Amino acid sequence: MSSIYIVATPIGNLEDITLRALRVLKEVDLILCEDTRHTKRLLDKYEIKAETMSYHQHSKIAKIDKIIGIIESGKNLALVSDAGTPGISDPGNMLIKYLIENKINVNIIPIPGPSAVVSALSISGFPTDNFVFLGFVPHKKGRQTFFKNIAQEKRTVAFYESPHRILKALDSMQEFFPEKEIVVCRELTKIYESVYRGKAEEIKKILTDDQVKGEFVVVTH
Ligand code: SAM
Repeated sequence: MSSIYIVATPIGNLEDITLRALRVLKEVDLILCEDTRHTKRLLDKYEIKAETMSYHQHSKIAKIDKIIGIIESGKNLALVSDAGTPGISDPGNMLIKYLIENKINVNIIPIPGPSAVVSALSISGFPTDNFVFLGFVPHKKGRQTFFKNIAQEKRTVAFYESPHRILKALDSMQEFFPEKEIVVCRELTKIYESVYRGKAEEIKKILTDDQVKGEFVVVTH
């Protein structure tokens, strides 16, 4: 039976990849990538000359059918996203859901590794035996409710926010839960990695306009 390996890749620092992930990426017949050019940097660093094909959130059903055809021809595939663990707040899970719902005869095998949310939780210092991950903050509709619900939440909460809206998110956090402790993790594992801890108001004072570039995970308790 064919296998599809769901391979976690670095969230920034290209050294953050497991030996097993590298072996699998070398051995599979085809790597499905969120963005083939992005993944090429990783493959080049480790001299992996694999065939790649794009698979992303805008992929049409015809692309999925093509992937199923490849699986049914007996080939082994890897699925990677631009960063971290495929399927965690990125398009990977649509493909996996489709394979399961359509009873496609394939082993779905996780190759664990980095994930931005778990990295942030691991350094938060907040309770992590019971946490909630909310994915991305909604852009418009539902944004207020998103923060209102966190205010009621007893468990540690983690979410992703874009650099364009991180200051706005801190305003909402100050409005809805000024007393909660917050950890804002920026550019984890990268050159400009920074971690800001405190209440929303305190973090807003240190997170100036020129520091709101890059990728963010927010954890609060
Ligand atoms: N599947 C990925 C994972 O397991 O980490 C997450 C994919 S999601 C589409 C991308 C978001 O993850 C970014 O917008 C950002 O919020 C967060 N992220 C990814 N890399 C990050 C990093 N190095 N530092 C902080 N946040 C990061």
